[in-house]
Amino acid sequence: MIPYRVIEAKRDGETLEPGVLAGFFEGFLVGEVADYQMSAFLMAAFIRGLSPGELSALVDVMLRTGEVLDLSSLQGAVVDKHSTGGVGDKVSLVLAPLAAELGLIVPMMSGRGLGHTGGTLDKLEAIPGFRTDLSLDDFRKVLAAEGFGMIGQTSEIAPLDRRLYALRSVTGTVPSLPLISASIMSKKLAEGLTGLVLDVKVGSGAFLPPLERARELARTMVAIGEGRGVTTVARITAMDRPLGRTAGNALEVGEALDCLRGSGPADLREVTLTLAVEMLRVAGDRSPWDALKKRVEGVLDGGAPLERFARVVALQGGDAGVTTDPRRLPSAPVVRSVAAPRSGVVHRVIPEVVGYGVIDLGGGRRRMDDAVDPRVGFEIHVSPGDVVQSGTVLGMVHAANEAGAEAGERVLRNACVLGDGPPPPGLPLVGERVEGGDRP
Ligand code: URA
Repeated sequence: MIPYRVIEAKRDGETLEPGVLAGFFEGFLVGEVADYQMSAFLMAAFIRGLSPGELSALVDVMLRTGEVLDLSSLQGAVVDKHSTGGVGDKVSLVLAPLAAELGLIVPMMSGRGLGHTGGTLDKLEAIPGFRTDLSLDDFRKVLAAEGFGMIGQTSEIAPLDRRLYALRSVTGTVPSLPLISASIMSKKLAEGLTGLVLDVKVGSGAFLPPLERARELARTMVAIGEGRGVTTVARITAMDRPLGRTAGNALEVGEALDCLRGSGPADLREVTLTLAVEMLRVAGDRSPWDALKKRVEGVLDGGAPLERFARVVALQGGDAGVTTDPRRLPSAPVVRSVAAPRSGVVHRVIPEVVGYGVIDLGGGRRRMDDAVDPRVGFEIHVSPGDVVQSGTVLGMVHAANEAGAEAGERVLRNACVLGDGPPPPGLPLVGERVEGGDRP
């Protein structure tokens, strides 16, 4: 295999034989294909796409070159959820302990921030001491004790995705339907799941904004999961505005803790409850939707998931005190409020502007090896449809210094678009379900 011949073939729109594609990716793992060659290939794949055969070969090679967890010794259905990526999406932090409290085993392996979207791992690492790099043995122990655990991909699990993810994040090759599908599904299938719930984002802050693209992504991933024996369901949820009221790692942990206390923003709660019900359903519970939702709500509001979260934080080396005293989370030295420049109606809060703004503040990465500042980010106090007066507080910038606060102020003003009259209709918060039977 001559790497540049494979790149040329993809560049010219040819369909690669599964063996050739597998050889190219395996070569990357052993250093026969360089980072710059893989970057070129990813860009070619981004532009040309992958055929169904190529996509399936890519998922296979991702799985084959890593370990697949066997959690059959644990009592309970093994179910996870994965989001295609959004701004302010801290659902996993609430959902994992909630689902474990409901009797499911949730071996959550998450990613870091990608492009303008945040990553669960970066959020968890805002908790002082929290370790996301447990060995698989230690992870199994946490799962056996508490029913859920939250780690990053170990070197054993989908190592190919780990390396591709880091490259894609900094080479403009994230928003590709086949690359996203292979990335998510390889990680999730390696968890040894019996069921999977996918939260597929739609709207300007999603990697694939139009509804038809989100649907196609959902169908592709559901087909991959079902084809490999995992009951898979996708819900399409809104990302035409940030989820919840914060973006930035420590701020989002704080908001997730509010939700675990039974409060927190209504949209975060609704998406979390919906996905929890879907997790119970893929685990085989066919009780009526409303009954399941009531049960899930009761469990969340009862406070046990917060206690379970605290225990897992402690087991994974973190300061469990943050769950009762969020002031123990890292906080930014400069906090500045941002006022509306005029009276009007909030027409939009643009998620991608907020997401890139977090990166500019230092809360995300520009290069693969950048460190992330957990303290910085935004609180957003308004939603589309709110009427504001000149001077109404739109939100707060949490910055590392005055220059950051200055820049963050501009970001928040750009993100909160003010107009006159009613705002354009937003997307439904929780939209369509895509199931195995819907396969094209
Ligand atoms: N989440 C992932 O894990 N991978 C992607 O490519 C996009 C979102």
